[in-house]
Amino acid sequence: MILSDPQIMDLGDLLVGLLKPCNMTGRHCEGTHDFTRQWCRLVGLDTEEVLAYLKSRGGYCDCEVITNVYLPLIQKLRGKESSNE
Ligand SMILES: [Zn+2]
Repeated sequence: MILSDPQIMDLGDLLVGLLKPCNMTGRHCEGTHDFTRQWCRLVGLDTEEVLAYLKSRGGYCDCEVITNVYLPLIQKLRGKESSNE
């Protein structure tokens, strides 16, 4: 299964509100998909299928879903305009 862009945005918004990516200056996530699993239950999607898709995109834990799936999508939607913070 493949998540749509709006679904990834929805999931990413949730994750960003709940944790900071490991490779940034925030706290480390637990290395799990706990929040992603909660979101799957919330929206009624099959957790294992969603996780399989996210892992195929490099999202091996909640923070990597942000870093490797959510943020690249935001950049894509901005028309590949990359901004350095
Ligand atoms: Zn992590």
